[in-house]
Amino acid sequence: MTTVTLANMPIDLSHYEAVLLDLDGTIYHEDHALPGAIDLIRRLQKRGQKYACLSNSTNSPQRLADRLKTMGADVQLDHIYTATRALADYVLTMTAPQRRPRIFNLSTEGMHELLDGAVDWVESADQPCDAIVVGSPVSHYAGEDRQRIALLLARQGARVMGFPDRVYPSPRGLEFGSGALTHMLAYAAGVTPILLGKPQATFFNALCQKLGVNPARCVLIGDNLETDILGAKNVGMSTILTLTGITQRSHLSSVGANHQPDHVIDDLTQL
Ligand SMILES: [Mg+2]
Repeated sequence: MTTVTLANMPIDLSHYEAVLLDLDGTIYHEDHALPGAIDLIRRLQKRGQKYACLSNSTNSPQRLADRLKTMGADVQLDHIYTATRALADYVLTMTAPQRRPRIFNLSTEGMHELLDGAVDWVESADQPCDAIVVGSPVSHYAGEDRQRIALLLARQGARVMGFPDRVYPSPRGLEFGSGALTHMLAYAAGVTPILLGKPQATFFNALCQKLGVNPARCVLIGDNLETDILGAKNVGMSTILTLTGITQRSHLSSVGANHQPDHVIDDLTQL
């Protein structure tokens, strides 16, 4: 099989300690796998190479594993690292070991599943609250009435915690991401939000620590110049941009050298 990159050189993934795969826009779009994605995951599994699927999705890792399974990829939960998982891990350390954290959910059912039983849920503005976890504006728990409660809680001192995504692609076009709602709430409350997920170095470094690999010996494959490529480059990873998601080839000319990926591919069949 011939593989072609911008530099016209084949890309060999086998010499990396780990291959990190963004999910939305790289492995799948909505409910269908993108070209070459399932084949790539199966090849990584077959040769026993370390890999992880990562996402700023506010779905739980179990839901993402279920989605991958319907597409034909059997990915174990410990190979899926999401911003939701990172945020849940953070939330659970906030008030330990004295008591359980008191949390208002302005996010998804996936977040509810991850934290239920380990936190005390806040449901109204007159309850004490340690933190608000924020998803995208269309999240199950992010309706307008709950946004108003969250605003009061944040103004009373609850920390505002969310994910860095500005936008995400959907069948209707670009949608406001969880980061957009997180910043809107934080701005209205006059507080600084805590963001967990790509492109933060803590997110990539925590994942590499879990995998037992050196970031400089890893490659990340993703569709987003800012959250995937820049984030991974900042911790020393090699990077491959796939044009199946949010970034178009024309975007490359408008960003600086620190945003440029090592390779650009049309889709994963080129790997
Ligand atoms: Mg993506």
